[in-house]
Formats: sequence, C-alpha cells, structure tokens
Amino acid sequence: MTITASVDLTIRDITTGATTGDTCSPELATAPWTFDARPPGYGPGASLGDVIPTGSPRQGALPEVYRTADAAELDRRIREAKQALGDRLVILGHFYQRDEVVQYADYVGDSFQLANAAKARSEAEAIVFCGVHFMAETADLLSAPDQAVILPNLAAGCSMADMADIDQVEECWEQLTELYGTEPDADGRVPVIPVTYMNSSAALKGFCGRNGGIVCTSSNARTVLEWAFERGQRVLFFPDQHLGRNTAKAMGVPVEAMPLWNPHRALGGNDEQSLEESRVILWHGFCSVHRRFTVDQIDRARAAHPGVRVIVHPECPMPVVDAADESGSTDVIAKAIAAAPSGSTFAIGTEINLVQRLAAQYPQHTIFCLDDVICPCSTMYRIHPGYLAWVLDELVAGRVVNRITVGDDVAVPARVALERMLAARPPVPAM
Ligand code: SF4
Repeated sequence: MTITASVDLTIRDITTGATTGDTCSPELATAPWTFDARPPGYGPGASLGDVIPTGSPRQGALPEVYRTADAAELDRRIREAKQALGDRLVILGHFYQRDEVVQYADYVGDSFQLANAAKARSEAEAIVFCGVHFMAETADLLSAPDQAVILPNLAAGCSMADMADIDQVEECWEQLTELYGTEPDADGRVPVIPVTYMNSSAALKGFCGRNGGIVCTSSNARTVLEWAFERGQRVLFFPDQHLGRNTAKAMGVPVEAMPLWNPHRALGGNDEQSLEESRVILWHGFCSVHRRFTVDQIDRARAAHPGVRVIVHPECPMPVVDAADESGSTDVIAKAIAAAPSGSTFAIGTEINLVQRLAAQYPQHTIFCLDDVICPCSTMYRIHPGYLAWVLDELVAGRVVNRITVGDDVAVPARVALERMLAARPPVPAM
C-alpha cells in the first residue's frame, strides 16, 4: 500500500504554520520515543488526558540509530528486512494507524479482521501487529503457538481497554453475584451474562469465557446481545459504555434500565433496586477518540453541506449516534462510502487516519471528519516507522523483541468466549 494521505504531515504543517488548521496537541509532531522515557502516559492525541494504569507495559529505549534515522533510511531498512524475511513475516496495520506505517502492511483492517488474517498466514513465523496491545493479544490467541506476535512499541495500549482491569471486573462480579445469586429463573436464564467488547485485555476475554460470557465486536454487538439475553436476565457490558448503550437502545432496551457501573464506588454507584431492574449494566469506559464527536458538529456539517450523509462509529455517545444518519463499524463506514453514487458527501465520526485515507481513496466523493481538529488515537500513534524498522531488523538478526504472549490460564477461556461469538448467529426472522 502506498501513502495516500498523511495525518502526520498535516500535523507537522499545522505546527510549523505552513498550513492553517488545528491539532489537539502540538506534541504530536514530536517523535513518540520522546514519551517512552516519561512517566507512564498514553502520549499526545485524543487520550492525552486519560490515566494509564500502573503496571501497563513500558517500552524500553529505542536504539539511537532508529531515533536519528530520516524517513528515507527507515524506509530502506523496512523494505530490505521485509524482503529478507519474505513469507516468514506478516505485517498487520489497523485502520487507525498512520499512513507512514500502514504503507508497509500486508493486511489493513479492524482488529478482528487482522487477527483472522494472521490466522490465515500460518506459514508466517512472525506477526508484526501495527495496532495496540489488546489487538496483539487477540492475534496471539488466534494464531498458532509457534507464531510470534510482535507489537513494535509496547506503550501502544488502548485507553478504553485499560479502563476495565481484571481485578475491578472480578470485584464487580462478586458484588453482582452477592446481589443476584446464581440461580436461573423459570426460563433457565442466569441472573447476568458478562459481555466484553473486543477492545479489552485477554484477561477480560478469559473472564467471560470462565463465566458463561462472550466477546463482541462493533459489527456483531446486537447479535451477541441477543445471544446473551437468550441465556441471561441481564448483561454486564464492558469496557465501552457507548457501544453497549447504543446497541441495547436500538434493540428496545430503555435507557433507564442501563445503569452505569463506576468501579471506584460500592455497587458501582447504584442502589440495589436499579441493579435489580437493570437489563444492561454498562461499565464506565469510553474511547477518547470517539467521545470527541458532538451533536453540534453534526449540526454544523448539515448547515455547511446540505444533503450530507453523517455516519458515526457506535463508540460515539448516544446523542451523537441518534443525531447521525447511520452508525456502524469501520467496515460498515468503508462499505457505505464504496457503495455510494459518485459526488456523495460524507461527514464521518471516527478516527482521523481512517477518514483521511477514505477521502484520498474516493476522490469522487467529498469526505471529511466531523471533528475539524486533527486529533488521532494517541495510543495507535505510538507506533512509528522507527519502531517498525527496529523490530524487523531484530527479526532478520534472529531475535524476537516485544513479543506479546497470553498464558494458557487466560488463553484457554478467552478462546471459549471468542468461539461463542463466532457461533452466535442472528435469530432467523419470523416468516
Ligand atoms: S481509537 Fe479508542 S478504542 Fe481504538 S485503540 Fe484508540 S483509544 Fe482504543
């Protein structure tokens, strides 16, 4: 894939005054290794204000040769390493990754598509995942044991995934079990089914596997909730409150029956009655990228572009999803644009790298991001060609660095939760 649009260059032009526009943080023009040595943080970008949990993986110092190399030198190193490694290597690039990295990817897609792509390339000894930590874990869960999954920068976590850790979820489960008991109702439905979004640690997927729960993606969240309601009286949904709320609301679950669980308060900050009457208990997590989108931005887009089609990701807050024409996963957004008649205008509510790439890919349409401030996913932004060149050069030298592995104690139940998701099917429509 060749570079088609570059958020990096846009940010650099803004910060040097070469072009007009706004970026959420001028530090985005700074190399990401500058932040590796600082106290744990996600770095500049949309999750700049989020708190990184203690114990999150830290990236060691990137060797100087990669920090000082210019773009042409890094490009030469990456291409030569790719050629030397041949079929022994597969590089995966997430939709939200910067173009300077995505150009080297063998596959580009969302996290689940990429994990499946890794599975399909069984001859590859090394899977270099240019995404974030939970994605590399999922690739490790789905790939063969002798395949090494590598995350070029260990600091590339996901602030949303990090908003629910296993200790907090276990504590929540204990409180819910005490309140509801474990006995099924007359229809055989247990009191609560845990559902985790794909954007969560392997530990949480394992938790769901151990406790009768399941994983969902933004594409199949409704199907998965239907699966869960067939088996449970209610759902505990984590970590993204917005995906849970938007999906359940579209299924007819009243918003009042969806209390928010704050892990720092007893009973999540709820009283027993509201938990008894709940249908979906929503974890207090969110994506800082998608939380930036507002109804006001939609109103302005409609005023400036009459006839504009507004599509937002379901990780956006409920009022934004309600005000949009459609909501859907990155795949849904890309397919809607591909299928539209030439000359269509789209305002998109998702990460800027994907939106700018789609705009470059479909010049016959007008495509712009709802948020006119350039603010990429800061955790995805921690991957830079310098880290990619480093991990590839190490592979050529016979060394595996930054390997992500999930131990069997977690991997076995996590795969159970993933398999339940793959087996869940939408109910057959009534004739
Ligand atoms: S866009 Fe949001 S959910 Fe996706 S990796 Fe970034 S912080 Fe996590």
